[in-house]
Amino acid sequence: IKITNLEKIYRTEEVETVALNDLSFEVRDGEFVAVMGPSGCGKSTLLNILGLLDDPDAGSFLFNGVEVAKFNERKRADMRKKNIGFVFQSFNLIDELTVFENVELPLMYAGVKKSERKARVDEVLEKVQIMHRRNHFPQQLSGGQQQRVAVARAVVNKPKLILADEPTGNLDSSNGNEVMQMLTDLNEAGTTIVMVTHSEHDARYSHRIIRMLDGHTVTENILV
Ligand code: ADP
Ligand code: ADP
Repeated sequence: IKITNLEKIYRTEEVETVALNDLSFEVRDGEFVAVMGPSGCGKSTLLNILGLLDDPDAGSFLFNGVEVAKFNERKRADMRKKNIGFVFQSFNLIDELTVFENVELPLMYAGVKKSERKARVDEVLEKVQIMHRRNHFPQQLSGGQQQRVAVARAVVNKPKLILADEPTGNLDSSNGNEVMQMLTDLNEAGTTIVMVTHSEHDARYSHRIIRMLDGHTVTENILV
């Protein structure tokens, strides 16, 4: 990821809010980076742009060597489906679908055929140790179990990049540590991770902390 002079402004009738202001930084292939900063400093806006869910008003965003800042919605969606997995604070599982179906969804969007879908979903459910719950619905699971399903869904498509937004925010410390360990394992297997967090404890699992204030970075500490 190479972000240069990124700008994002939200305009409503009364006010203009500068959410990202001349933001520049890089994340190398295989890095695990934590993004921290006070509420309102632009972390969610940044994750939405990194995740190709939204586009910047100005600046450059190189992803895998491709300039994606001016991609239209269709091209963003295509790039997103192939390359990016998301993990959210509130899990964001679909209540009407079983564990298996939730994890299968990204593969259906990607057009993977049924027999291969089954094999790949079973493999990741095994990995996050939730196979025995494959036919349960999200509401029948504890928070820690739901986040494990969400991690399975994020990785089933073998994305190059995982974006995590406060992934342990709704978990107790033991489930939180389990999820952080899963992210660490994925990173060690080669996946790049960018994680927004308020937790200094969770940030210590990363290689580096990017600290933001008022829409731009203030430091990019190298930790290890
Ligand atoms: P953080 O995730 O660090 O709390 P956000 O990226 O959510 O920060 O917000 C950055 C700034 O942009 C804040 O001032 C916020 O109020 C504003 N903002 C975020 N989303 C919108 C929106 N959809 N419309 C208007 N202002 C927004
Ligand atoms: P937590 O301590 O994380 O809040 P819960 O008390 O919600 O966990 O759940 C404890 C165990 O009971 C978990 O294994 C969870 O999957 C299971 N469980 C909770 N609610 C249901 C339900 N409605 N149907 C089936 N299993 C459930």
